[in-house]
Amino acid sequence: MEESREQRIGSALSGESAFRTRQAIEAIYSPFFRSWNEVTPLPKIVRDRLSESVPWNMLSVVIILPSASGDAWKALLETGDGNRIESVLMRNSRGQFTVCVSTQVGCAMNCAFCATGKLGLERNLSQDEIVDQVRALREFVSDSGLTGEITNIVLMGMGEPLANYEEVRGALRSFIGPMGIGTTRITVSTVGLLSGLERLISDHEWPPVRIAISLHAADEKTRAGIMPTTASGFFDGLVDWSQRYMDAFPEKRRHLTLEYLLLSDINDTEEDARKLVSLTRRIGKVRVNLIPYNVTDSGLVGSSGNAVHRFRDRLKAGGVTVTIRKSQGGDIAAACGQLAGKAD
Ligand code: SF4
Repeated sequence: MEESREQRIGSALSGESAFRTRQAIEAIYSPFFRSWNEVTPLPKIVRDRLSESVPWNMLSVVIILPSASGDAWKALLETGDGNRIESVLMRNSRGQFTVCVSTQVGCAMNCAFCATGKLGLERNLSQDEIVDQVRALREFVSDSGLTGEITNIVLMGMGEPLANYEEVRGALRSFIGPMGIGTTRITVSTVGLLSGLERLISDHEWPPVRIAISLHAADEKTRAGIMPTTASGFFDGLVDWSQRYMDAFPEKRRHLTLEYLLLSDINDTEEDARKLVSLTRRIGKVRVNLIPYNVTDSGLVGSSGNAVHRFRDRLKAGGVTVTIRKSQGGDIAAACGQLAGKAD
């Protein structure tokens, strides 16, 4: 695991009081400062030392594109080693913002419907690179005169969060601690890496954020066709894990969501709905979020609006708690599955 910025601050200020170190760490996450020089509560000699050895930002903004509807923005950001990643800012009907952050440069999971999957994995993002996506978009909100605050974070951008476990856990702790985002307002979305899911169930340092499993099919053959990481026995493993997870954390805030992208003639038939109802009954208290598919160059076709509503009604009739996700940012290739580290 890469040395975090907080650790670098600790090293730069060794010999200073714990109070000074805490002040410096709080300054990084504060919306009021844009550089070490501006942190005037710190003595100049301390600011100079920090400027020399601790980068204020790990990312630079290449461009931030607005959607035509004015409720989503795609940020193309560059890491210090020249890799480009994307984050998405979305405004809800109450005027609050959600940021969708990336956790890796590219992704190794190769899901058939996803533009990021076509890139392959370049590298993991550090916890500071994950956190700085939210800091960059918070500055954008402030500089653009937009009203409202960033209240929600979803780890659903480029990459598989549980394949970058330690850095993601570090970023979650920064979001929740110094940045003050509530645990129930953060969602980690995973392809269902059972090794990572297993790990977090017994990890006392893993915060109580929401977990969303990208399911997208309720039988192994269909799922393996669109998500090649689907191993034999995946569904039995998922049911077993989910039950133990909910036994371990019965509080409502830790309950699970199954994400289900609807693809025409692949996973949207009556039989698919029946299988999904049966799976949710095996899992127990779980919510299903249906996602209309956004165009990529995958060759796959999203289910029609009618098919999406029909599928939802079948799940409802089967007693499943189900919602349909409103897609934002489709015109700027910022919606689910469209992120590919480019500006158009
Ligand atoms: S959907 Fe998520 S896990 Fe699958 S390839 Fe895309 S970024 Fe990776």
